[in-house]
Amino acid sequence: MASLGNRAHTNAILEKYGFRFQKKFGQNFLIDEMILEDIIDAANITSDDVVVEIGPGIGTMTQYLCERAGSVLAVEIDTNLIPILSETLAEYDNVEILNEDILKVDLSDYVHAHGDKPLKVVANLPYYITTPIIMGLLESDLPLASITVMVQKEVADRMQEGPGTKDYGALSLAVQYYSKPEIVAIVPKTSFIPQPKVDSAVIRLDIYDKPPVDCENPKLLFQIIRAAFNQRRKTLMNGLNNAGILSMNKEALASIITEMGFPESVRGEQLSLEEFAMLANAVTKRSQKQ
Ligand code: SAM
Repeated sequence: MASLGNRAHTNAILEKYGFRFQKKFGQNFLIDEMILEDIIDAANITSDDVVVEIGPGIGTMTQYLCERAGSVLAVEIDTNLIPILSETLAEYDNVEILNEDILKVDLSDYVHAHGDKPLKVVANLPYYITTPIIMGLLESDLPLASITVMVQKEVADRMQEGPGTKDYGALSLAVQYYSKPEIVAIVPKTSFIPQPKVDSAVIRLDIYDKPPVDCENPKLLFQIIRAAFNQRRKTLMNGLNNAGILSMNKEALASIITEMGFPESVRGEQLSLEEFAMLANAVTKRSQKQ
């Protein structure tokens, strides 16, 4: 039975193994049973599901996942946690523990071995690599059903933001291109040991079968988005021109922007996902004509 979601049990395990938290791995362990239930409920895990947990720590959430899912792959970078996980997950036969860096590991073999079923990813993410992990998953070829993760509250807000707000950026657009984001819980810093400096949020990304906008060349779309936000204070036109990603001169780009109904001074942060897709399509069309 899941037993680790409280301070006393967690401390007992940490003491037994003489475990020392490693700051470089973003280790903040959850000690709040209610939040654990909330995450598992939000992820909507059933016995048919193939789940990947990133960073199981001592296995607190993994126990809950093992009790609900068909199978669980727990990917943990910290070798010191592996013997602990072997003990805390000993009673479950539907879990595999992988001592790897999630940014380097290829999960396709695991997916094939489980019938190519879309994965449900669940994690209390290490905050130092939240964005690369989310972007890596979204841009991978892995079949994904959903990603339910604990992140810093400010990052969860960023994923949901729309045009014209200061938090709107490349992460918001990528998340909203691939998925429908929904913040499902706000989590106070007191729910972790050691306590992080800021509050957290649980966000679920339901992956679309098909993106909500039509874009002929998604690679170009994301090159444009990155260039637009890399130089946030510059106009969209100068940002794209300086990035050197488009095979056209500034005048041609200016005419595309004005034909879309924007002034030449428009900034990237004013464009919606749909407008970025329109821009990418117009650039593709103009390049084909040349
Ligand atoms: N899931 C546990 C919990 O909720 O108590 C621990 C969460 S803690 C915020 C993040 C976990 O991710 C730690 O166990 C850490 O060692 C692990 N981690 C950090 N970087 C990682 C990486 N690149 N690949 C896999 N795991 C990583």
